Amino acid sequence: MPFDFKGKKVIVCGGSRGIGRSIALGFAEAGADVSICARNPDTLEKTRAEIARFGHLAHAGSCDLSKEAPIAKYVPEAVKALGGLDVLVNNATGYGYADDEKSWEASINVDLLAAVRASRVALPTLEKSKGNIINIASGSGLRPSVRTPAYGAAKAAVIHYTRTQAAQLAKTGIRVNCVAPGSIEFPGGVWADRKANEPALYNATLANIPAGRMGRPEEVAHVVMFLASPLASWVTAQIIGVNGGQGL
Ligand code: NAP
Repeated sequence: MPFDFKGKKVIVCGGSRGIGRSIALGFAEAGADVSICARNPDTLEKTRAEIARFGHLAHAGSCDLSKEAPIAKYVPEAVKALGGLDVLVNNATGYGYADDEKSWEASINVDLLAAVRASRVALPTLEKSKGNIINIASGSGLRPSVRTPAYGAAKAAVIHYTRTQAAQLAKTGIRVNCVAPGSIEFPGGVWADRKANEPALYNATLANIPAGRMGRPEEVAHVVMFLASPLASWVTAQIIGVNGGQGL
């Protein structure tokens, strides 16, 4: 593991499964104390226990990120449990793919507003540590797709918000960056589901990835860790694709 986050304090919002889980485990493996939040208590505790195996503090909080009040409660609790905060990763998604009210609400509330709200609550602590915020968007936020109107619009807003937030906070020493993954496959994830249930979509997507395969969650985690590390000290306001060339 090339990164050293010993003594650093990390929150991963939406950290119990998939990419968020890989990010949380990556930081823990590199020595960080980590807090994750999500809704499903069983998955949350399972991942918290996995994080704890690396021997550093592992905290988990039940939190519905689609609402302001649970975020206002979870983030300070996590900061208290960790004893500070160096890195906030806003990873959760409502996966609101349809063009209906429910999808738009989920996309705006979970993909966009949860990042805004968690950042706002974490800000005073991040100012002290001169920490990092990393927002997880998507290639869908960079290119329009008729399949994902709500999700894509919310992710585009996350990208725009990242740049604004980075400019607002640059003088405080807080860096803000965004990772935009391409298609990332893992058991129980959206692409494993499509492979089983929508093979034509899966195969068409795969055919459009120049590298010829789906990405892995840890490949996203490594870029998040790089951005949060001192190696990226002059990197802020950037949108980094992690996609094997997808969407060229
Ligand atoms: P995932 O497997 O669905 O995991 C999402 C995580 O967020 C889980 O821990 C989930 O736990 C939590 N979560 C979802 N809604 C929540 C809510 N309302 N409150 C609290 N926690 C919530 O997602 P993923 O595929 O790993 O994606 C992670 C990020 O990468 C997302 O921002 C996604 O848009 C982005 N991304 C993914 C891909 C891909 O191919 N997988 C591609 C591009 C971008 P609970 O359900 O228990 O709450």
